[in-house]
Amino acid sequence: MNVMANDFNSLIPDTRRFLEQEMKHLIGDNWVKSSKSGSFPVIDPSSGSILTEIPKGTSQDIDEAVQVANATLNDPLWRDMPPASREKLMHRFADLIEGHAEELGQLEALDVGMPSVVGQFVEVGNVIETLRYMAGWPTKLNGKTMDIGEPIPEKRFFAYTKREPVGVVGAIIPWNVPLMIAMWKIAPTLATGCTIVIKPSEVTPLATLRLAELALDAGIPPGVINVVNGLGNEAGQALVEHPLVSKISFTGSVATGKLINKTATDTLKNVTLELGGKSPVIVLDDADLEKASKGISMGIFGNTGQVCVAGSRLYIQRRVFDEAVERISKEARSLKVGPGLHPETKIGPLVSKDHRDKVISYIDAGLKSGAETITGGSVIDGPGYYIEPTVLSNVSQSSKVVQEEIFGPVITAIPFDDLDEAAHLANDTSYGLSSYIWSQNIQRVHQLVPKIRAGQVYVNSTPFPHPAMPMGGYKQSGIGRDLGEEAINHYTEHKSVVIGIN
Ligand code: NDP
Repeated sequence: MNVMANDFNSLIPDTRRFLEQEMKHLIGDNWVKSSKSGSFPVIDPSSGSILTEIPKGTSQDIDEAVQVANATLNDPLWRDMPPASREKLMHRFADLIEGHAEELGQLEALDVGMPSVVGQFVEVGNVIETLRYMAGWPTKLNGKTMDIGEPIPEKRFFAYTKREPVGVVGAIIPWNVPLMIAMWKIAPTLATGCTIVIKPSEVTPLATLRLAELALDAGIPPGVINVVNGLGNEAGQALVEHPLVSKISFTGSVATGKLINKTATDTLKNVTLELGGKSPVIVLDDADLEKASKGISMGIFGNTGQVCVAGSRLYIQRRVFDEAVERISKEARSLKVGPGLHPETKIGPLVSKDHRDKVISYIDAGLKSGAETITGGSVIDGPGYYIEPTVLSNVSQSSKVVQEEIFGPVITAIPFDDLDEAAHLANDTSYGLSSYIWSQNIQRVHQLVPKIRAGQVYVNSTPFPHPAMPMGGYKQSGIGRDLGEEAINHYTEHKSVVIGIN
């Protein structure tokens, strides 16, 4: 099999215009170069060719952005903006993103490698929904009045709580669905009156920069959203260390999350960590196998498996094991692998050569430990970083391919006999992000759900992050939640006010 690279003739004029401009950082309303020279290339994973260069931000650039974000936090224009006006501004931003959805989808296709229609309708769709959902919150950030009685004899009080923005937020973004995850941090920032400095992934920064341009066009006051590009161990670390940053919202790997948590302790920041996963998929013997195999295939091969909630460990009840594995493998073989801009592509390339090599090394380790390839397992010839959607069977629960996050289009299959064994196997990793159950028996589903140690349980469904539903992990999959009311709680402080009235 051979796969082609992206055809740039299909780019719309807006995407071309963006790619032709010089990439910079956004600090306030200024698009600025780095304080020191230095840049890194952004690579098209369908070909390995360079799309553009991005400035390498320094700790000085981060400091400038944080100072501006901190000053904006206390600027009456933003601090005192009525909640309904903030809501209106957020809807205007969402309208503008809607008008640029095709362009943003193409940028994600070029940068991440995902099919551009997935970028446009699924990822940008979620970005818009998240912004609109969060736009409902500014008008509902209320405190409470408390009757605290007479805690001091013959002295009466009026006591209440109020919600206030947590402060300057430092957001650190991974490369796999960068636009969506950036919005998961931007939307609660806007809803609560915080300000934000974003450090995109060095691998996929493009759509986030375009999003920041659109925010200014929508009338979000300058300084509310700032973007400094750069490497994690330089710009990212400077953001986590900065004393004027009150909160870090990080999405990325477990290893980096642990490091960030340690660093943030020095200045006692409020930290939210959305980390990796190795999510189990439990197929009971009463499942609708046709629907399950399609859903499971989407859930592991979508975005080429580079999804934190990808269902990557398959546990199938023994009676239907062979049939389910065969059906899922057939789905895998039917998926068209190709460049993101091609209209028929279902599965794009992996994001980089390094990452493709890492995924292949996991498959090799699996085979060495006795796994059997039911389908896939190989690199696809061509200029880009493609590999075949892969199903492995005959794997042991303790092997690396079952225990570690591969972050690629690889699923392992293991049989089980009863619900307790399924729950035990599902919980038997250090992760606890998402999980999936396929069954038509509601009683068995309800028996299983409480036994699963994971932040999300989807029953008879592929994963989809809904803005109203909290998103995050148990165990080493993270701390805190993005999305939903829980995110609003993480972006606000509760102030208790007690007034003596006699
Ligand atoms: P990394 O942890 O490698 O990087 C994430 C971000 O952290 C990047 O912007 C990176 O910068 C930055 N970074 C790296 N080191 C530091 C540091 N010392 N201080 C501050 N920032 C730093 O993850 P990936 O980008 O490789 O993303 C894939 C991972 O993200 C997977 O493990 C996946 O499961 C997880 N993920 C979790 C999600 C969730 O919601 N739970 C959602 C999506 C992904 P640089 O630009 O240098 O890489």
